[in-house]
Amino acid sequence: MTSRISCDHEVLYEPLAVLAAALEAYVAVNAAGRVVGWNPAAETMFGYTHQQACGHDLADLIIPQRFQAAHRAALARVAAGGSAQRVGQRLQVTARHANGHELPVELSLTGTTSPDGPVFHAFCHDITIAQRATRFAAVEATVTRALVEAASSADAATRITAALGAGMDWPVVELWVFDEQRQLLRCTARHSQSGRALDRFCINELELGVCLPGRVHHAGTPQWVADLAADTTSARHRAASRAGLHVAVGVPVCAGHRIIGALCVYGNRPEDPEDCLTGLLSGLAAQIGQYLQRRHAEELAVELARTKDEFLALVTHELRNPLSVITTTAVLADEEFDTLTTEEHHHHLRTIARSGQRLAMMTDDLLDLARLESGYLCIRPTACDLRPIIDQAVDELEIPIRDKHLKVTTRLPTHLYLHADGDRLRQVADNLLSNAVKYTPDGGAVMITAALTSGRQTITWTVSDTGIGIPPSERPRLFRRFYRASTALDRRIPGTGLGLVITRTIIERHHGTITVGDHPGPGTTFTIELPVGTQQP
Ligand code: ATP
Ligand code: MG
Repeated sequence: MTSRISCDHEVLYEPLAVLAAALEAYVAVNAAGRVVGWNPAAETMFGYTHQQACGHDLADLIIPQRFQAAHRAALARVAAGGSAQRVGQRLQVTARHANGHELPVELSLTGTTSPDGPVFHAFCHDITIAQRATRFAAVEATVTRALVEAASSADAATRITAALGAGMDWPVVELWVFDEQRQLLRCTARHSQSGRALDRFCINELELGVCLPGRVHHAGTPQWVADLAADTTSARHRAASRAGLHVAVGVPVCAGHRIIGALCVYGNRPEDPEDCLTGLLSGLAAQIGQYLQRRHAEELAVELARTKDEFLALVTHELRNPLSVITTTAVLADEEFDTLTTEEHHHHLRTIARSGQRLAMMTDDLLDLARLESGYLCIRPTACDLRPIIDQAVDELEIPIRDKHLKVTTRLPTHLYLHADGDRLRQVADNLLSNAVKYTPDGGAVMITAALTSGRQTITWTVSDTGIGIPPSERPRLFRRFYRASTALDRRIPGTGLGLVITRTIIERHHGTITVGDHPGPGTTFTIELPVGTQQP
């Protein structure tokens, strides 16, 4: 190679200095395929120093094994006097870095002749980012189509992760969504490359703040893990390295200002954190967040319409029972008016009165519930004392308690002051106590406790009994309108299944919670946590 490029009047450049300063990698090989030129940019791009590269077979250094035969065959053709077909062209090839990872490279190939034979010169640049952006644009288009075509959020999530995984060649892609009820993260969709030992890596639930999805959801910002195996803060670091996963990027999925999940991709190539990649993923996550939010609202609307229909059907059914008892008893009493004894008349009239009372109670409960839920029936908090409220509720049930020989124990401080609606709390006490009495067979026990918690911010109020209990599998449905547990239905104990719904609504309007817990031995325990607070419920 000449050491100078000159024009008529002056020496313009020192070519070797230009090559040394070039941003593009310069690689030259002779006809035998041995490296004869290797600039600093090539050192950076391929991971071999000038000394390590020069004189060595280019194929052994940077050509992936599957392309080596073709490369050597092309050189052999030239050596046999054939033409170098690719000289003068711009090519896209795959190269291998010294650390083993592959990179897409664009190069322009030229050829010169030296006293020792032909020399081939390649100026190369890494097109990983450009190629990724092109692939990402294709993935984005697929995702947009998936969001339009998906039949449900679950279907959309599956299509999105599959599009990202297949389109970007990421071995694992996960979409995690925050489960508000259970306060944890759930993996709603996962794409995973087949043939990987992923069983231990693929978990479907995560505590908040745990592993990459938990951290992304908690921080609300993109997170990059450059070396998964070394990330001992993650419970999945061993499983990740067993599965051959090295890097991971996670971006938050937001609905408005709320962070509703995390989109995480896991790769097997050591890659550098790139703003570009996190930016691309974040754009996609924003699209997913908007979609999930819209879908959630639509699904809620459908659910609401369905619930309304179910509710109407239930109400009609529940009202029809006592109504038909009233009608049939009245018709019977009328038809057989002359033949019935006075005692039988009384019996029929009492049946009608009982059913009428049941109808009235049900209507009151339904009205209460509707008013509470619509906000029409306000909670009016004042300074009140829970102790007398509970005492009065127990006194009121004196007769059934005595008739059933129940042992009622209360463990309460002299006063339990709080800022709440006393009338509504009395309703809560009545509902829970009447249940405890109703669902506890003769000779059983009922226990009521209430006390300030250690921080003095809340009151814990429990009502437990030794009664028929509620099977654990049925407890999640307990606070639904008209729901009645099998234990009550099997014993034909009357009730409408509205008391607990009203109770929970009142407690929630006071910013409290009510739960039905595990109970030692037979029976049931309801626990209420009620803020003492001065804030307006
Ligand atoms: P009502 O609306 O008149 O109160 P109900 O008692 O059936 O009727 P809820 O108070 O809402 O309705 O209770 C719902 C169901 O929960 C009951 O039907 C019963 O199956 C179950 N349940 C509630 N409290 C108890 C308890 N202490 N022991 C056993 N089962 C209970
Ligand atoms: Mg009840």
